[in-house]
Amino acid sequence: MAGRREFIKQAGIISVAAGLAGYGCSNRKNNATGKSAKGMILTFKPYEVELKHVFTIAGSSRRTTPVMLTEIEFDGITGYGEASMPPYLGESHETVSAFLQKVDLSGFNDPFLMEDILDYVDGIAPGNYAAKASVDIALHDLVGKIVNQPWYRIWGLNPDKTPGTSFTIGIDTPDVVRQKVHEAAEFNILKVKLGQDNDREMIETIRSVTDVPLCVDVNQGWKEKTAALDMIHWLAERNVVFVEQPLPANLIDDNAWLTGESPLPVIADESVQTAADIKSAYGVYSGINIKLMKCGGMRAALKMINTARSLGMKVMMGCMTETSCAISAATQLSPLIDWADLDGNLLISNDVFDGVKVNRGKLVLNSRPGIGVQKL
Ligand code: MG
Repeated sequence: MAGRREFIKQAGIISVAAGLAGYGCSNRKNNATGKSAKGMILTFKPYEVELKHVFTIAGSSRRTTPVMLTEIEFDGITGYGEASMPPYLGESHETVSAFLQKVDLSGFNDPFLMEDILDYVDGIAPGNYAAKASVDIALHDLVGKIVNQPWYRIWGLNPDKTPGTSFTIGIDTPDVVRQKVHEAAEFNILKVKLGQDNDREMIETIRSVTDVPLCVDVNQGWKEKTAALDMIHWLAERNVVFVEQPLPANLIDDNAWLTGESPLPVIADESVQTAADIKSAYGVYSGINIKLMKCGGMRAALKMINTARSLGMKVMMGCMTETSCAISAATQLSPLIDWADLDGNLLISNDVFDGVKVNRGKLVLNSRPGIGVQKL
């Protein structure tokens, strides 16, 4: 990148120290006339999304999540993207900013060369999947806007086939759980976080309020396979439809045994980050949970869906705590999946985008081009 640094110096980079701690930036390169150079311009700005409720899963609690909002501008059109960085994945404002500063799209004069552009971004450094997703999403939004079509249409998907999304109920006291379940009355499936010492109390509390189907996410919180199987049988009698990541990801044989014995589908989340992990999940899990922030964006997610389907595996899509930008991007793919857990935007109080909606629990795609968002 030494050559690029030199070029930036010569061109006079405008560094926009916007938002938090000065991690935002632009790689805009101006020529002597002040007109922007011809290629694409990537800019990014840190943001902190605030949760309506303190969110507790097995292992941690938090009230805010750092995100990075990206834009790619080309020929007067702007595509929006986002990275969300929950602490457990190891990315942060600092790491995403450092990665995005290395992304120089000014040499690409054709946004339709998406494979080339995203291969270049992938090759800048290993990992950094949320940062990569923020470029991937913005590029998809840009290209969709150029052709004036939403991505589900470009892919040939039927918008009526979006699934319902689950709404997540974090681990909490019975009073708070009951309150959250009442707030979630619109949803046709609830996702319950288990894996602490009050699992049966959580389920019984929810069942005292509603009969709606549940899915369960243990976040690796159960440690022993026969106890896990007993618990899954107990859950199956209480209208639970699948169990996500019941055991630690490194217990491969135990996970495979549990999936073989389980009356419910067992879905891999922490065990599967990218397409490369699907091979080792085959035969160990019934299906996979794909998240744009884990795999690097919409292009990678589509590949993962196709790979999992070719192996006869179930597919769900999940999310992080994120704005309607990343949620709307993921929802473009949702007609292809079995289950959606795309409620991250509904859990925050300071969304900065208007995008896909939920109507009576079902995800509703709009006809806006790209990923279907407008800035608020
Ligand atoms: Mg999960």
